[in-house]
Amino acid sequence: MSKTTEIIQQFDEHVIPSYARRPIVFVKGKGAKLWDTEGKVYLDFLAGISVLNVGHSHPVVVDAIRQQAGLLMHVSNLYYTENQGRLAQALAGLALGGKCFFCNSGAEANEALIKLARLWGHEKNRFEIITMKNSFHGRTLATLTATGQDKVQKGFDPLPSGFVHAKFNDLESVKEAITARTAAILVEAVQGEGGVIPATAEFMQGLRALCDEKDLLLLCDEVQCGMGRTGKWFAFQHFNAEPDAFSMAKALGSGFPIGAIVTNPKLADVFQPGKHATTFGGTPLACAAALATLQVIEQENLLQHASDLGARFKKGLQALVEKYPKHLAEVRGLGLMLGLVLAASAKPLEDKLMEMGLIALATGKQVLRFLPPLTVKPSEVDEALDMINDACTEMFGDSTAEEAKSE
Ligand SMILES: *Cc1c(COP(=O)(O)O)cnc(C)c1O
Repeated sequence: MSKTTEIIQQFDEHVIPSYARRPIVFVKGKGAKLWDTEGKVYLDFLAGISVLNVGHSHPVVVDAIRQQAGLLMHVSNLYYTENQGRLAQALAGLALGGKCFFCNSGAEANEALIKLARLWGHEKNRFEIITMKNSFHGRTLATLTATGQDKVQKGFDPLPSGFVHAKFNDLESVKEAITARTAAILVEAVQGEGGVIPATAEFMQGLRALCDEKDLLLLCDEVQCGMGRTGKWFAFQHFNAEPDAFSMAKALGSGFPIGAIVTNPKLADVFQPGKHATTFGGTPLACAAALATLQVIEQENLLQHASDLGARFKKGLQALVEKYPKHLAEVRGLGLMLGLVLAASAKPLEDKLMEMGLIALATGKQVLRFLPPLTVKPSEVDEALDMINDACTEMFGDSTAEEAKSE
């Protein structure tokens, strides 16, 4: 039996089958490259679903984790540690200017936003949170209820009450969802799982104005679109509309689990002692990984790089849409968060690319999502484009013959 088969067999025998896993076993990552047990090299344009924004095993992050692990990994949140304070200062310095709470995942960060909104609205008896259809906010009971997708909720009822879904990019539908019980609106500035759909500036600014007018909290889920992914630190910064608080996780620790919320000064002290907690939130080790990640994004100018390389990749994908108009519909997204919209299911293209050595992910039904590391090289973007072109040619036929005729 091959090593790969052995690992998969052991895994399947003992790990709960809550994922449809592809039969590949990865053993090593560096930058935008991944290696499997068979020695095959992949170009990773998924980056752990926007976790490896600084690439796999960035030396600065690896060093920070190694050093901190040898010094102090964990003490209870009953005490102070330097890294947590430093990280909070750094994050609140990037946006909103209030304070942070640290946890361990995206769902937990959103859970913290939900509890914050409920606590804030409690005296006024306001607890409802409006979220968007097609959104994704996590898999805990509250966050899957916030998530506007039936498939995520099916089988888990009764669901917690207090969540209402409105239509994304449709201000009227949000207005209609507001009641005397509404406390907050929660939105992704770019929907990720929903199919890489950016909010419009009109929508985001409209939400901000609506929240100001009705005294509601605007909350942003930056778990996937944050941390430089779209060419700004946080995706809402594209739209000139600031939330009152936002959540993040995924790329914050470059693979080391850490989640956080950042609030504005108004909400900074809503959680008083005893109101919210988690054992592992903001350990010195997790915060060391996050501080190193911020340092890399700054020092390597990755926001600019994400914009530039995003533009290069988008242009290349758009050329493919023009080349295969019957099969490819459009390219959308911001920075290095891009979706290629197909005329039919995106899964066969995902499979074909995987075979060729390019990792991407079909999202929704007809969208192929690309989330390469922000450190991706121009040559790697071009290499990916070549592979996508070759895959399309193989699957959809050679359109260059027709082009040559018309020229
Ligand atoms: C991944 C994701 C989450 C959930 O994060 P977990 O760390 O898996 O709990 C929440 N919101 C968005 C937008 C995400 O992409």
